[in-house]
Amino acid sequence: MNQDYLPTLNVVCGLILLWTLETWLPAAKDRQGRLRHAFRNLSLGLLNAIALAVLAAPLITQIAIRAEGTSFGLLRLFQLSHLNSTIAAILLFDGWMYLWHRANHRIHFLWRFHRVHHSDREMDVTSAIRFHIGEILISSALRLAVIPLLGINLWQLLVYELIMMPVILFHHSNVRFPERLDRWLRVVLVSPAIHRVHHSRARAETDSNYSTIFSFWDRIGGSFRLRNNGRPVDFGLAEYDDEKWQQMSGLLTTPFISAGTDGSIAAHTSENELPR
Ligand SMILES: [Zn+2]
Ligand SMILES: [Zn+2]
Repeated sequence: MNQDYLPTLNVVCGLILLWTLETWLPAAKDRQGRLRHAFRNLSLGLLNAIALAVLAAPLITQIAIRAEGTSFGLLRLFQLSHLNSTIAAILLFDGWMYLWHRANHRIHFLWRFHRVHHSDREMDVTSAIRFHIGEILISSALRLAVIPLLGINLWQLLVYELIMMPVILFHHSNVRFPERLDRWLRVVLVSPAIHRVHHSRARAETDSNYSTIFSFWDRIGGSFRLRNNGRPVDFGLAEYDDEKWQQMSGLLTTPFISAGTDGSIAAHTSENELPR
């Protein structure tokens, strides 16, 4: 059976469900221009979905199928049961996602694309799909090497995506989620309280909390950070606050035009100026 439609269906259902919850139980209330904000992010997400389906997905599928027929890849070195192999694949791929996200903040060329995700002045479920097409394509190109190296098969990749997308949509959402529940959730998963700090315009906070599904990667990598003062996080990037950078044309050209003094995230608030 062709399961290609499952990830798309998963994302669409998640977007509808969380958008509805954001309307009933918003964390940040009285937002202006919510529909316009959503329309821009959804347009970017749709563009990425089309590019991914046309350019990257067929190649990734081919590589994964070819790799399956060989004994190549880390996971195939061990005699694991089907279930254990899938659990290991999910953990390994999530570990790769942590390293990849961290590289996006460390390497200036990658940051140029990734800053589109961070220039969002607000945060809600639609922010989860706000990525520049360049970042999506570079990440897909690297997956062509990572998947066979780790020995992950297509089925495991599908399972990973079906778990990853609801977690990403949820931790970006503007749903009022009780702190007590968040505290429990974040022991294992990346919760809204964790990921909101990552979208802060204070650089020390932006450069933390890189994990995608499991929060322990940040604890292991020493990049875990929480706000203990209870103050709401101010989202965005100072250099790209202007309205023109929030429109489609601005979002698409953000990687190629440096709006800050030196075009880097150095224009962020320094560690000393962080609200405590
Ligand atoms: Zn980031
Ligand atoms: Zn994010």
